[in-house]
Amino acid sequence: MRWYSKLLAAALAATLQACVTPPAQTPVSSAATVEIREPVTILVSIDGFRRDYLDRGVTPVLSELAQDGVVAAMRPSFPSKTFPNHYTLVTGRRPDRNGIVSNSFYDPGRPDQRFTMATTDAFYWDQAEPVWVAAEKAGIRTATMFWPGSNVAIEHVRPSDWQQFNQDVTGRQRVDAIIDWLRRPAETRPQFLTLYFDTVDTAGHNFGPDAPETEAAVADVDALIGRLLAGLDRLHQPANLVIVADHGMAPISADRIVQLQDYVSPGVVKVIESGAFAGIVPLPGHEAEARSALIGDHPGMTCWERQNIPERFHYGTNPRIPPIFCLADTGWTILNGPPNPDWPIKGGNHGFDNDAPEMRALFLAHGPAFRHGLRLEPFDNVDVEPLLRRLIGLPQHDGAIDGTLAPLEPALAEPQ
Ligand SMILES: [Zn+2]
Repeated sequence: MRWYSKLLAAALAATLQACVTPPAQTPVSSAATVEIREPVTILVSIDGFRRDYLDRGVTPVLSELAQDGVVAAMRPSFPSKTFPNHYTLVTGRRPDRNGIVSNSFYDPGRPDQRFTMATTDAFYWDQAEPVWVAAEKAGIRTATMFWPGSNVAIEHVRPSDWQQFNQDVTGRQRVDAIIDWLRRPAETRPQFLTLYFDTVDTAGHNFGPDAPETEAAVADVDALIGRLLAGLDRLHQPANLVIVADHGMAPISADRIVQLQDYVSPGVVKVIESGAFAGIVPLPGHEAEARSALIGDHPGMTCWERQNIPERFHYGTNPRIPPIFCLADTGWTILNGPPNPDWPIKGGNHGFDNDAPEMRALFLAHGPAFRHGLRLEPFDNVDVEPLLRRLIGLPQHDGAIDGTLAPLEPALAEPQ
């Protein structure tokens, strides 16, 4: 790494100078005043960054990091949505066990209250412990420049520094906040940080994964990662970077629509969510009717009762998951009634089968803890949290999560 080798060179020069230069001739070396910093861990999420965006020739910075570090196509957890997967990445538990079962859901204990991406009530978040909570409890300082859940007092703990999500905060401001935190004296400097970018996902939704607009958003974020590296370099701050995405993106079309109301009338069910999948609650007295109308394979979608969702999805035991769950074929859209004119069925979407190639997410790791030039086989995103624990210096879980360090151990420079 550039800044790391520069730092070593500076440290070496200072040492040599101290050893061989007669005191009378010693000029004050600027290198001698450089603080030798311990590596920090920075977890970066580029929302909706499909693995193959790295192969489009518009990411000079990320591609160089990948070439010099570790890269993989990571499998998101099901459902391949933003909040469930961001929470999986920092807890090591799949959505079924981390409690954030979708971007929007109801808890049976609070039937009148819908969880949304703006919900900050810890009640919804306390089925798993995010790594920043474990770190803070262990006296390791953390700072989050956005991450789902980081604005919530989970187990009464928030990161020492955190920000309320605001899409208007520019990418540059987000990067500069990270650098500003790292400019602090060692006592108040965070050792684990998160950084989040949403523009690649937004472009992917609006224009589709193969559109020039999406490529432009990818190039913009690549430049922002370059800005981050330059800032770290100026501070002589070594860092282990773990750059991930929560899911990929599949093209959708008005030619690939399933209309729920062709199967079941609005008087029979309440539809909690629709799109890449639909969560459906039969209305009282209509349970059998809803089941017989929906359960099974249909053109463009498959519906299950919650408890019969295929094992490989690891989804269906949490009571927050609606009793009937319909999954669209990848690239299809489930509608409940006429489409919302504000949401034309075009561009891209995610939330589909988490094993679909279109849902594969970026994983890229780089820094002193990692080996060079390694391409890993695809692995599940539940394994990222154990990696973060290793980098931060926290003990591994004892089976309490769904992930393990094993798939990522070969990525580490000094496997133990
Ligand atoms: Zn997302």
